[in-house]
Amino acid sequence: MSKIPVIVLLGPPGSGKGTQAKELQDSHPGWVHVSTGNLFRAEISSGSALGLSVKDILARGELVSDDVTNKVFESQVLKILDTTKVDALVLDGYPRTRGQSVYLIGLVARESRLGRPVPVELKVSEAEVVGRLAGRWVNPRTGRVYHERLNPPKKAGICDDDGQMLAQRSDDKPDVIRSRYKLYIEQRDGIVEGLQAGDRLVGIQGEGPLDQVSIRLEKVVGELQKGA
Ligand code: AMP
Repeated sequence: MSKIPVIVLLGPPGSGKGTQAKELQDSHPGWVHVSTGNLFRAEISSGSALGLSVKDILARGELVSDDVTNKVFESQVLKILDTTKVDALVLDGYPRTRGQSVYLIGLVARESRLGRPVPVELKVSEAEVVGRLAGRWVNPRTGRVYHERLNPPKKAGICDDDGQMLAQRSDDKPDVIRSRYKLYIEQRDGIVEGLQAGDRLVGIQGEGPLDQVSIRLEKVVGELQKGA
């Protein structure tokens, strides 16, 4: 049986990982978007003990510990594998540290259904990130992301899918955005090394119209899958 590809979208906050992961999921039946950020926000909304324990960390734009994140990630992935017919996993926001990369490599070695992680990095500048995130609106129920200028909903403030009121994230304030960007730059090389990606890491230009970024990403992902 062929293994399930694990596509890892890397890039700073605001590089479009969530939007592009959703796009890949929507255009390929059987591809599943996994976002640790969405998982943590769902825990916070539900008022669970885990949600309470990570709420302030997310609001400050800091990282949840590797221990907690790895557990949450693994249990979500196993749940998906056990309950859904999956053709590919698209990871968004995980791994975010070298330790998480090492954990992911261990998980795919233990879990015979999963293939080797295939990383793709979306490249965007800090100035672009600040501009994007300050205009970002999210459906708090589904995690669908809009931008008031680049990718607006049909009706301002309302999600096209389910009519839910859109909200702004507490960590999308310019000073928090800058520190989240810095954190990504600090962690980036460790993440890549931990994934043992070496020269397999492909970077694509993440700036410009969203549909153009999607086309570039589709092309790269198609090629990488052939070589995986
Ligand atoms: P995101 O939606 O991916 O931007 O994640 C939002 C926030 O959730 C991050 O700023 C972190 O506080 C937390 N978070 C999400 N994924 C991770 C991760 N892999 N490791 C640690 N913290 C995470």
